[in-house]
Amino acid sequence: MQPDDRLSEFAAKALVAWPGLSYRQPQQPEGYTHRGEAAADLVRRGLVEFRHDLPVSGYDEWQVGDHRASFRGQTCTCSDVGAPVDPKVGRLCKHRIAIMMAMRLRKDADGLLAQIIQQAAANGAERVTLGTMRIYADRGHDADTYTLTSYRERGRGQVNVGGDGQEPVRFKAADLHRILLATGWRVAGQQRQPGYQWDLYLEPGRPAWPGGDAAVADELRTGIGRLDAPDADWTERKQREQALAARFAADVDKAARRVAA
Ligand SMILES: [Zn+2]
Repeated sequence: MQPDDRLSEFAAKALVAWPGLSYRQPQQPEGYTHRGEAAADLVRRGLVEFRHDLPVSGYDEWQVGDHRASFRGQTCTCSDVGAPVDPKVGRLCKHRIAIMMAMRLRKDADGLLAQIIQQAAANGAERVTLGTMRIYADRGHDADTYTLTSYRERGRGQVNVGGDGQEPVRFKAADLHRILLATGWRVAGQQRQPGYQWDLYLEPGRPAWPGGDAAVADELRTGIGRLDAPDADWTERKQREQALAARFAADVDKAARRVAA
C-alpha cells in the first residue's frame, strides 16, 4: 500500500475539512487515527459496493463492510456516535466517507475511459481493446464491476493501468454505456481471456437505430447489451458448478440423516 496514493490523499483532505474525524484513541489493530484513514482502507479492500437506489425515496444504498449506508439519505446502520456531523452531508462515519471516496474514484475512472476513447478517435484508431477483470456475483460480489487493467489502440503498444500501487480503475457497464454514447463509440465485441480477464473491443459507433424508443436505440448504438451475455463456455462451467453443489448438498443431507438415525 502506497502511503501517497490517491485514497491517502482523499483521507488527508477529509481530515483537514472535518478535524472531528479524529478518533479519541487509535483504532486497533490497524492503528487508524481518524475516520478518513479507516474509510480509505475500506475502499482499498473493495468493501464499498453500490446496491441500488431505493424505490420510494430514491436514496442510494450501499453495502460498506458490514453496514448498509446511504449518501443522499444520510444514514448508516453503524453506531459510531462519536463521528462528526456535517450540516449538509450528515453523520460522517467511516462508511459514509468511504462512499464519498468510492464515488470520487468512479468519477476519475469515467474521466480516464473518456480520455482513452477520445485519444483513440484523435489518432484515427479503428479499435481500442480494454483489458478488464470481471468477477461474477456468486457470493455477493458485484456482478457488474469491471477493473481496467490495460488498454491498447489498434497498431499501438499496450498501456497497463492500475499496477504498482496505483488505485484500481473500476467501472460499471452503465458508466461505459454513458461514455460511449457521449463519444459516439460502441462495444463491438468481447473475448474471454484466462482467469477473470475479459477483453472489450470498442469501435467508432454506427448511427442511431432508425425509429424505436430511445433506450433501445442507445442499447443498439453502443452495443453495451453484449456485455451482459456470458459466453457458452462460462454457462457450461456454471452448470457444472451447480450440479456439483447440488450433489454435495445431497451428500450432506444423507450424512445428516444417518447421524439422526
Ligand atoms: Zn457507518
